[in-house]
Amino acid sequence: MKSREQRDRSRRARNQLRDDQGRFASELRSGPSGAPVVEYPTKAVRYRDRTYHIPVDKKTNRVPQAAIAARFIATEEGTGRNQRRNVIIDASVDADIILPKDISPEELVPWWANPNMLDVEGIDTKDADLFEVYDLRKKGSQDVQRKIAVAGATSEQQQNIRRIIEDSFTVREQKEIAKEGLVITITDEMPAGVLGSTLGKRGGMAYNIRVRPDVIDDGETILHELVHQSRLVDPKRDDVLLKTRSISRDEILVPCDQMALEEAATVAETAARKQNYKPPKTDTYYGFMGRWRKTKNPADMIREDREIMAGSADEGSSGLRGQKAIKSLIKNFDKTNIKGLSGSHFDSTLPDVTAEETLKALRKR
Ligand SMILES: [Zn+2]
Repeated sequence: MKSREQRDRSRRARNQLRDDQGRFASELRSGPSGAPVVEYPTKAVRYRDRTYHIPVDKKTNRVPQAAIAARFIATEEGTGRNQRRNVIIDASVDADIILPKDISPEELVPWWANPNMLDVEGIDTKDADLFEVYDLRKKGSQDVQRKIAVAGATSEQQQNIRRIIEDSFTVREQKEIAKEGLVITITDEMPAGVLGSTLGKRGGMAYNIRVRPDVIDDGETILHELVHQSRLVDPKRDDVLLKTRSISRDEILVPCDQMALEEAATVAETAARKQNYKPPKTDTYYGFMGRWRKTKNPADMIREDREIMAGSADEGSSGLRGQKAIKSLIKNFDKTNIKGLSGSHFDSTLPDVTAEETLKALRKR
């Protein structure tokens, strides 16, 4: 039973929108939500009658490498009308002028306006180290992942991340995830307790996912953020459970009372897709849920949901991809523990509505 106060709060919160503030480690979470996402400030630079807002590190007056990469792979930007740049061609031929990668917005602006006309060292030159796709097994994955940049990672971390993408998504699914460009940045600069977040795209740059370096190994956080991304951009997803309810295509911006559904569906699909299974390092949403519903401990709920979604929670067991993963979500979500996740479990400002309740209401509409 809900108290009157809870009901009022639910009603008030229902019409507000909320962006996906990231995946929290439950044990680290404290204080109110709304922790600001770390964003680069930008500098306005005029070039040939246009003003560009180029990200800049204010201390050094240099453009962050991840931002340069995000501009490079946003191929619908920086061209004439109705044109798209081809990142494979650009990266395979070195231009006559190669700009250094340690560069100010003022020096970079001719490239920012027209990435085809010149190159930036390490970004669209042949030796670019943000696009190490050559170890992937499938030619299709290699081609598709040339539009995914991995910044701030060691070579080994980058291989690890690229393999997770290849193993957990079909080539068609990878293609949709990468279509408008995606930068995955490995960084410690995140609000306290946030392991990873899906930041969307802005300012003529590609989509952006950030993940903390210490959680790359268990494969869970990066896959969780990629599932959010796929839910946002893959046009083949056509069910209220399968696609994000975001009001924007550029970022995840969902009504407050649907946040729990967004997270629970993402958690369940992540459990279905995880290859070479090992339990996650932190219990995240299950931890929040466990604190409210003391009937089961989080580790048991995680194991059960993995068994329900993928058939086995044994160490090293394989997961599902493509239509098999999608079908499992449709068929099995109702049986999971995570369907009981409520917004109020992980954020005191969200309404006490569970993912299951939201899904039922949406299906009736
Ligand atoms: Zn999430």
